[in-house]
Amino acid sequence: MKRILIVEDNELNRDVLSRHLRRRGYGVLLAVDGADGLAMAELHQPDLILMDLGLPTIDGWDCARQLKANAVTQRIPVIALSAHAMVGDREKALDVGCDDFDTKPIDLSSLLDKMERLCGRPEPAMTTERPTPDCA
Ligand code: MN
Repeated sequence: MKRILIVEDNELNRDVLSRHLRRRGYGVLLAVDGADGLAMAELHQPDLILMDLGLPTIDGWDCARQLKANAVTQRIPVIALSAHAMVGDREKALDVGCDDFDTKPIDLSSLLDKMERLCGRPEPAMTTERPTPDCA
């Protein structure tokens, strides 16, 4: 199973995104701030990281830099997510080592496309969970 690490300080965003990804067959790991994200990335070496840029302790920009400077985590693709994207943020995110960039609120199909491009399709969900309606 492809494992995605979501580094996001907003609990609602974390819950909604993790529910969407689990339903599509991804395994989800969660981190609530930058320091937590770096620790989780090194410990679990996920297949891809979704990195909020506005984070407590260590911001997403710095996290990306540190991930790409660490031999243990440098090959993990990182998609930066920004809630208040400014002109140039995309280039800046790529400059610090992010592999792609997307804006919040998240457009799920666009994000899933980017994820598939970077880490492949999830295997079909092997779940007994009943699908829940897309209401988020
Ligand atoms: Mn945030």
